[in-house]
Amino acid sequence: MSHDDLLAIIEDTPPSQDANEPAWHILVVDDDPEVHATTRFALNGVQLLGHSVQLTSAHSAHEALQLLRDNGHFAVILLDVVMETQDSGLQLVKRIRDELQQHEVRIILRTGQPGYAPELDVFSHYDINDYRTKAELTRTRLLTSLCAALRTYEQIRTIAESRRGLQLIVNATAELMQRHALNAFAEGVLTQITALLHLPLEGVVCVQRGSPFDTSDEQGLFVIGAAGLLADCFAKPLEHIADDHVRQAILQCISQREHLLEHDHSCLYLHSGCHEAAVYLASPAQLRPLDRQLLEVFSANLSVCFGNVRLIEQLEYTAYHDLLTGLLNRSGFLREIARHSTSAEHCVALLDIAHFTDLNDGLGHDFGNKVLCQLGERLRQGLPETVSLARLSADLFALLGPREQINPARIHALLEEPLQVENMNLPVQAALGFCELLEQAENPLTLLQRANIALNRAKKSLQVQYEYFIPEMENNTRWRLEVIHQLRRDFEAGKLEIWYQPQINLATGKPSGVEALMRWPDGNGGFVQPPAVFIPLAEYSGLILDLGEWALEEACKALQQIIPLPSTVHRMAVNVSMPQLRQSSFAGKLATILGRHAINPANLELEITESIAMDEPKVVRRGLDTIKRLGVRIAVDDFGTGYSSLSHLRDLPIDCLKIDRCFISEISGGSGGMFAETIVAFARKLGLSTVAEGVETAEQAGFLRGLGCTEAQGYLYAKPMPLPELLNFLSGHRQS
Ligand code: C2E
Ligand code: CA
Ligand code: CA
Repeated sequence: MSHDDLLAIIEDTPPSQDANEPAWHILVVDDDPEVHATTRFALNGVQLLGHSVQLTSAHSAHEALQLLRDNGHFAVILLDVVMETQDSGLQLVKRIRDELQQHEVRIILRTGQPGYAPELDVFSHYDINDYRTKAELTRTRLLTSLCAALRTYEQIRTIAESRRGLQLIVNATAELMQRHALNAFAEGVLTQITALLHLPLEGVVCVQRGSPFDTSDEQGLFVIGAAGLLADCFAKPLEHIADDHVRQAILQCISQREHLLEHDHSCLYLHSGCHEAAVYLASPAQLRPLDRQLLEVFSANLSVCFGNVRLIEQLEYTAYHDLLTGLLNRSGFLREIARHSTSAEHCVALLDIAHFTDLNDGLGHDFGNKVLCQLGERLRQGLPETVSLARLSADLFALLGPREQINPARIHALLEEPLQVENMNLPVQAALGFCELLEQAENPLTLLQRANIALNRAKKSLQVQYEYFIPEMENNTRWRLEVIHQLRRDFEAGKLEIWYQPQINLATGKPSGVEALMRWPDGNGGFVQPPAVFIPLAEYSGLILDLGEWALEEACKALQQIIPLPSTVHRMAVNVSMPQLRQSSFAGKLATILGRHAINPANLELEITESIAMDEPKVVRRGLDTIKRLGVRIAVDDFGTGYSSLSHLRDLPIDCLKIDRCFISEISGGSGGMFAETIVAFARKLGLSTVAEGVETAEQAGFLRGLGCTEAQGYLYAKPMPLPELLNFLSGHRQS
């Protein structure tokens, strides 16, 4: 290479304008001070490949090793072969590569005494760039040799850096795949990109099409991740970014559907299916080609990650939301409780719509769905964002939020106005169960169960429409569960019995019917629990379906024995609960039992309590109609305690009213029979017979007879008794 060529190389790249532009760091290792001086002189003020040169001197292999160990940024080492020993230069090369693992730095060997290390051997054994005698290395030679070494150094660096970049991308992709929420993903993208390009986290922003929080805005652009000064734009529409420049770049990127790589900023376009996003990053200087390439590779990976995150988010949405109302579902609500489980200012409420089944049956499921959506909407509109809303099952809604929001007054106020569904005004009646969160964490499921216990109380109560959970309720619940278990075991073991209580015709004084009453004997002459306790539990647990069917069967068997007797009794009354009536198979079962025991349906009377008859009028109506068609009689039990609308009662296919015991017990000392009187008069008007329950005194019997009440049942005549005793009792009251 001629001197001119060298000048060309050196001047080829103009001197850097930037004072901060990094210089080439070159380490000169030689035990001859003279060599340091001449090298310094030769390289003084020189620009190589666009950068100045900065020299560091080491006067022994030992000192050089120390320097290299402390910093690894040398580009080239000019290394003397013979120093402390004949081959200390060569030994140093070995240690640099093997011990310090510095493979990027280039090494030019210089020797005063050629022949100490055979040239070819040295080249093939050690990673060095050049091997020259000091005499050979004129200034020109030195510069060309350095230029070649620096060029190689730069190439190696580039390869190493892109390897590092690719490794970073691989790691970043793996990391981002773990981020299942979109905002966590966006945050990850920002940190990974800036790390990849050695940029500050400032001035990066991630934007997607569609609001990250709801489906109300599918088209708008929203910030889903932002750092530094832009951080407070998070979750806001793109317009919130004040910097015009940034906004325009993002809009352009999204509308052109491609990456924009400009001199002072870049904007990456991410897409997956119909979802789009853009990542904006400000770069202080134009990105190097290598960085651009890395960015391209990275954004291809990002698109894949983005698609995954969207997919996972969608899956998560369906897993935790009720698709009809868009509110949370049970799992979502439980997760929400878990998040707040120790915030004592919070409260869980369950809301159950009264008579929803009737509405659904009567007006159709579509209409029912609209009602549910409307109610969801009403709650959403009326309560602040801090309140979580869920639909747990058909007509059961749940709320979680601060106590000042979640309380009976506040929620009832929301339901005051009727719902508007298909031009209909529907008043909403709801029962509410509350459970307040405590400071110590509780299992979310337990909290939900407690609210449910309170709700069931509220549903049963006729006075109030809400209840707060108190611990006594739960003790009660545990006890109730135990009773239910024992009842099931004893029923299956055949330990339950049906006892019978005669009903007396007040005009003739003779027995005319019998009511079948269930008993749970304890085997020692007493009872485990009275029916007033275990029947509601059996209803609650569903066990009543089996118990009720068995009671019917037993009663019909008894009737088979009673009918042939020369007695005046020709009617058996059996109590029937709501769960039985609700079964569509009930009438069929009834017909089978009647057939099996060859019972005339007219001899059987089913008693349903008044509150049941009014609770779900549609279901009851349908059930009673089919029973009636079989020819079986129907009596309304405990009449006067429910709140039946009389017009409603007229619509039901009933034969008999049983006047509740409380109206009979008040008849004493010649007064207090007003209710009984009204009921008897009312029944007569409708052509129904009447049975007075709980008649204990002759005075009561006389009074009722005077009213024209048809029959009486009570301790005055007989207590409920086992079948053999009943048969005995009846033979004492013969026909004539
Ligand atoms: P209920 O149908 O109103 O039955 C009448 C209740 O009054 C019976 O209580 C009976 O023993 C009681 N009783 C009868 N005469 C008198 C009296 O003169 N004075 C007083 N103080 N009480 C009298 P029991 O047997 O404890 O039954 C309670 C409730 O349990 C029944 O009320 C009924 O609702 C339910 N139940 C009983 N057996 C069955 C059954 O087999 N199926 C269903 N679903 N419910 C049943
Ligand atoms: Ca009864
Ligand atoms: Ca009764």
